[in-house]
Amino acid sequence: MDQVFVIVGGGVGGGTAALALRAEGFEGRVVVVCEEPRAPYSKPPLSKGVLRGEEDASRTALRPQKWFDDRKIELITGVAATELDTDGHKVALSDGTQLGYDKLLLATGGRPRQLPGTSHLPGVFTLRTVEDSQAISARLTPGARVVVVGGGFIGAEVAASATQLGCEVTVLEGLSTPLQRVLPPVLGQIYMRMHRERGVTFLTDVASTDLEPDGDGIIAHAASGEKYPADVIVVGIGMLPNDDLAVRAGLEVENGVVVDEQCRTSAPDVFAIGDIANSPNPILGERMRVEHWQNAQHQAKVAARNMLGGEDVFAEVPWVWSDQYELNIQITGRPLPTDTVHLRGDVDGWAFSAVLTREGVLCGAVSFNRTDDVRAVRKLMTERRVVPLEALIDPDTDLTALANDDTLPLRKDHA
Ligand code: NAP
Repeated sequence: MDQVFVIVGGGVGGGTAALALRAEGFEGRVVVVCEEPRAPYSKPPLSKGVLRGEEDASRTALRPQKWFDDRKIELITGVAATELDTDGHKVALSDGTQLGYDKLLLATGGRPRQLPGTSHLPGVFTLRTVEDSQAISARLTPGARVVVVGGGFIGAEVAASATQLGCEVTVLEGLSTPLQRVLPPVLGQIYMRMHRERGVTFLTDVASTDLEPDGDGIIAHAASGEKYPADVIVVGIGMLPNDDLAVRAGLEVENGVVVDEQCRTSAPDVFAIGDIANSPNPILGERMRVEHWQNAQHQAKVAARNMLGGEDVFAEVPWVWSDQYELNIQITGRPLPTDTVHLRGDVDGWAFSAVLTREGVLCGAVSFNRTDDVRAVRKLMTERRVVPLEALIDPDTDLTALANDDTLPLRKDHA
């Protein structure tokens, strides 16, 4: 009898894992359970090209349907996994069927946080799916008043796209600088300036508490009592991991599904990856749940090899990119607001980077249209090189040359 590998979740993680299983030579059944009514696709264009109407949603497909068909990967779309029985090695689906499995991968991603009691209101959207993107896009007409609640990644990317379409955009961010929990404030201020210079009314310390219909429009209420009228409101206040199935199945769950370095959960033969996985990072020496595309895609390949009996370790320094206006922004490491920032390049000309240190040790980088620096820092961190602080502080140091310098010593705690 053929072995059956079931993948729950048809995002970039689930889709990549299915393809990786075949690429690794697995010949048994591969079944991907996709809650959304479509084959696995990439979400990054949803806040960019698809939202601006420049890119057809079909272009986001991870691979054409035929690609999956040719590899005999069974995609069950529009169906959710409802219960997981790890003792019986079976999973129940929302269409009333059950699937037995030999190995199972949880790649269920996350869902947007909502402002309580507001998700049903006309003109109010979150952004996670193709349908969300298309519905928002239809309302982004020139002159439309767009209020974005939350100045994180979704908020900033939507604000940029809507501004590019000629909308009047206001961002309401609850904290005193955007991305305050993940970036030093000086970088949050630069980030905010980028939006303001391009026409966005970017307000901070404005936590939105409630939304209320107002004729054909809608009003965002702030905790201060201020009102912000809009034609469309996009709420981007973070996401929640879809870990309910794992919780009900009795898996260890704490800030997501707890996995080891090999993407294994606490249940035998069950793996987890992507937005839901709380995994140890052996390079940075801490556990983390990373909510970004590249992490899901790369963990998927590691999990696939380990489902086939491998012993691969997922060990990567996190890396994130975002396109906003004409700028490509990249972040590597796991920055903290308290990190020390060493700027280099042309800040006013929007071609600069920031090297981050913590207690004198390199811990990350952020770049605006200057990707080489982030690439170099990521390499140095991955190899756990000891880099002299003077070199990191000096804006004239060639970071790429430094990253290619094999004579730099390795940190003593090198894994
Ligand atoms: P996010 O990046 O966590 O940002 C949400 C922001 O909204 C936070 O600053 C948050 O502050 C603020 N906020 C929370 N409640 C608020 C309120 N009531 N009023 C005003 N502001 C409020 O989350 P997101 O932008 O919604 O993105 C969702 C997920 O998609 C994230 O995991 C993100 O990483 C991912 N994503 C990634 C990319 C990319 O990699 N390029 C692009 C888009 C989305 P607090 O911290 O105080 O809650």
